[in-house]
Amino acid sequence: MAAPGVRALTAYAPGKPIAELEREYGVSNIIKLASNENPLGPSPHALEAARASLADIALYPDGAGFELKAALARKHDIAANGITLGNGSNDVLDLVARAFLMPGSEAVYDEHAFAVYPIATQAVGATGRVAKAHDGMRGPRYGHDLAALRAAVNANTRVVFIANPNNPTGTWLPSTQLEAFIRALPEQVIVVVDEAYFEYVEESDYPDTTRWLAHYPNLIVTRTFSKAYALAGLRAGYALSHPAVADLLNRVRQPFNLNSVAQAAARAALDDTAHLAAAVQVNREGMRQMTGACAELGLDYIPSVGNFICIDVGRPGAAVYEDLLRVGVIVRPVANYGLPNHLRVTIGTAVQNARFIEALTRVLD
Ligand SMILES: *Cc1c(COP(=O)(O)O)cnc(C)c1O
Repeated sequence: MAAPGVRALTAYAPGKPIAELEREYGVSNIIKLASNENPLGPSPHALEAARASLADIALYPDGAGFELKAALARKHDIAANGITLGNGSNDVLDLVARAFLMPGSEAVYDEHAFAVYPIATQAVGATGRVAKAHDGMRGPRYGHDLAALRAAVNANTRVVFIANPNNPTGTWLPSTQLEAFIRALPEQVIVVVDEAYFEYVEESDYPDTTRWLAHYPNLIVTRTFSKAYALAGLRAGYALSHPAVADLLNRVRQPFNLNSVAQAAARAALDDTAHLAAAVQVNREGMRQMTGACAELGLDYIPSVGNFICIDVGRPGAAVYEDLLRVGVIVRPVANYGLPNHLRVTIGTAVQNARFIEALTRVLD
């Protein structure tokens, strides 16, 4: 009896929770490097704000998210009516699909794109059109090919989803190329630039898309508190867009989609720039540790600007993933992303990274 799009769907496969591995395999002292969570944890100020907000959880949250939106408006120097809050940015991606896609319309995304795009697209009965990634000749291998994405756009296209950087590949698009792509899009096509890992990127040519919002009313930028801000468990994300687009997204939004604890914690997290800088530094050092280990082990990897790295283990990743589970290390197999020989590994603390490297070395032996 289910809708055809839903019948054809495969549910999102999340990283295995630590407690589940404990239950199923009876191992302890587990590390999870599977969901791109921040190993430092959230800002102490965010935790304090979350705790304080518990006093009011008998009341509905502020459905308009006034305080958090005001803080975000200041941070991004845009009007608050261009902000849409989400229960994680995943929620916002769903709102985009519900507001702009329908049976007969199409969404375009890359073959290695974040799994939520096809799910959100098919859930509303729309059709996904997949663009091939670069093969390494005209752009970074596994990276988004903007010409291929553009070629996949047709009269039925209503949304293009682009993660920058992309998950799981960690590849990214520089400012000039991405803006040229957006400028050349037909104006009836919404382009979603998903910046879940924005805070981690240190490349000088990485775009500040918030400056483009005034020029492109079909642009939606999404951000999250789940990654660098380390609030994944609370679920808080948002979209920045033209106010008319935000108005449409808000029409299909659940009135209380962002709970009061998340609103309070997110707002406090925004102010703790020192904590954020520490997370970025740990990631920078951890990335060096991981790529150095790959070089020593003779393993290829996809250069990443996020807080994760896709490593080519030279054999089916699923088996290596299973072997790593047995020694208490959870990473992410990515065969479902068209990367059967890769494993996606979140950059952890130096100690966690060392534990992963040692386990991988042993397993590959
Ligand atoms: C993690 C992630 C998100 C969503 O995270 P939320 O927790 O829902 O905010 C969105 N896009 C990409 C590319 C991600 O990797």
